[in-house]
Amino acid sequence: MPVLLLVGAGHAHLYVVKRAGELAAAGYRVYLLAPRFFDYSGVASATAAGALASDAGQIDVRALAGVSGVEFHEGTLESLDPEARIAVTSDGDHLSYDVLSINIGSVVAPAGMHVDPVVLRVKPLSGLADLDARLRASGQQGATVTVVGGGASGLELAAHLSVRSDVVQVRLVEAGTLIGADLPEGARKRIVRLLAARGVAVHTGCVVRDLGERQLVCDDDTEISHDVALLAVGLTAPPLLVELGLGDGRGVPVRATLQHVDRDDIYAVGDCARFLPGPLPRIGVHGVRQGPVLLRSLLMRVRGEPLPVYEPQRRALSILDLGDGAGLAVWGPRWWYGAGPLRLKRYIDRRWLRTYRE
Ligand SMILES: Cc1cc2nc3c(=O)[nH]c(=O)nc-3n(C[C@H](O)[C@H](O)[C@H](O)COP(=O)(O)OP(=O)(O)OC[C@H]3O[C@@H](n4cnc5c(N)ncnc54)[C@H](O)[C@@H]3O)c2cc1C
Repeated sequence: MPVLLLVGAGHAHLYVVKRAGELAAAGYRVYLLAPRFFDYSGVASATAAGALASDAGQIDVRALAGVSGVEFHEGTLESLDPEARIAVTSDGDHLSYDVLSINIGSVVAPAGMHVDPVVLRVKPLSGLADLDARLRASGQQGATVTVVGGGASGLELAAHLSVRSDVVQVRLVEAGTLIGADLPEGARKRIVRLLAARGVAVHTGCVVRDLGERQLVCDDDTEISHDVALLAVGLTAPPLLVELGLGDGRGVPVRATLQHVDRDDIYAVGDCARFLPGPLPRIGVHGVRQGPVLLRSLLMRVRGEPLPVYEPQRRALSILDLGDGAGLAVWGPRWWYGAGPLRLKRYIDRRWLRTYRE
């Protein structure tokens, strides 16, 4: 009976766990090694900023595994012996496997920047859990917040925080010349106008050298002070993968079949994978779409059939939650700003979350 060990309860693994009955019917024993709760990024900015309840994006992974007949080990992966096929958990347990799949997400990568440990990081999402408490701790005078990184998550957080009554000033600091550089030009300008109207001070061309508890320093010696700082620069694969010898900062190198480039018994999916046929942005949609491919692959390999490949779609709908009821939907060069996109986002997010909560 082949043993399948799923490490991490990211989007693709949640899909596989939910349908683990099919794997059991094909002869697998399925184990899941993961923290008890999964935090959904689609609502992360809203929960972190207090616009939604703190548990609005949480999935109880242990409960899902329980109803799906998957043996759950609460914890994280610490080390791996790929030759002996043994994974060691944070509790020191040794788990043997025949097939391993890794879906452990990503972390914020502040290359070349010194960052004080108290600074909040947007990934892993658990790093945002303290934001609300930190803001409240600033007392009656209100907090000054610096968000470093003008990409999607930095924009969402800056926009959300700018409408909080206990935040007196939001500063958005970006190394490049533009914020929202990946957005269509019109959408980018719309967000710039929104942030200006909400009093957000945008500092572009500021390459942060040192991000401290109360102050940041840029390469040109500009200093910006704050009560709370949030690091929202680009995402990279967890350093653990290098320690395991499975990949580098770009992730676990996988073929189109989602299998490790050199090891047929190891799969990697989502943000922690480096898709060799072509680079994929670190967005949840790839993890979601890789779930069905991974499940089919696991079923087909026990039948000795050719394995399916992941074919990323060229475009994905992305919707930013900009706080105060506003959203911005982007589909290729098209975009739509207003209450409608946010309603659509909430509908999509609720439907997805419901699948794994029932
Ligand atoms: C603020 C913010 C908002 C975002 N909003 C969106 C959005 O609206 N839409 C979108 O498409 N993308 C969004 N993203 C990007 C999105 O978060 C990622 O692309 C997505 O979460 C990746 O999914 P994943 O399944 O690879 O990993 P994750 O969703 O990160 O899941 C990985 C899981 O593995 C667990 N884990 C970590 N290390 C270990 C270990 N050693 N052992 C076991 N388990 C481990 C983690 O606890 C986590 O539960 C956002 C990102 C941020 C930071």
